Amino acid sequence: MFAHAQLGFPDLNLKLATPPLPSPYAAHHFEYLDNQTPIYLCCDCHSHITSYQAILSRTFQGRHGLAYLASEVVNVSQSVHHNRTLLTGRYIVANVTCKICGNNLGWKYVTAAETSQKYKEGRYLIEKARVVKETSQHKWDP
Ligand SMILES: [Zn+2]
Repeated sequence: MFAHAQLGFPDLNLKLATPPLPSPYAAHHFEYLDNQTPIYLCCDCHSHITSYQAILSRTFQGRHGLAYLASEVVNVSQSVHHNRTLLTGRYIVANVTCKICGNNLGWKYVTAAETSQKYKEGRYLIEKARVVKETSQHKWDP
């Protein structure tokens, strides 16, 4: 059983060097990651998901091969928290899906049971196979 609620873990979350700007599309639950390139897009609907600056690791293992560990994502929905046992230990995770099209992108590490894995808490595993990299400055209207 996890007793995380009683423990005061330090906040290890890294903040983005350039936080996403307030989006005029927030009312439609769609955010742009302007001024951040490259950007990683949902492979199905090309919604912005995360950025180069938010990627902490490119060598994580997802369910579909290599995955990114990201400090911040946008335009996603999270499932209810549930227990999951992975190769590196036990976690409480929330599945992460594209808010626009429902594409299953990966999961959020909510709590890690192992002390050595605490750095993952609050971060996101994003499957490489579920995003595409957008390197141009091209922007488009929704
Ligand atoms: Zn999508």
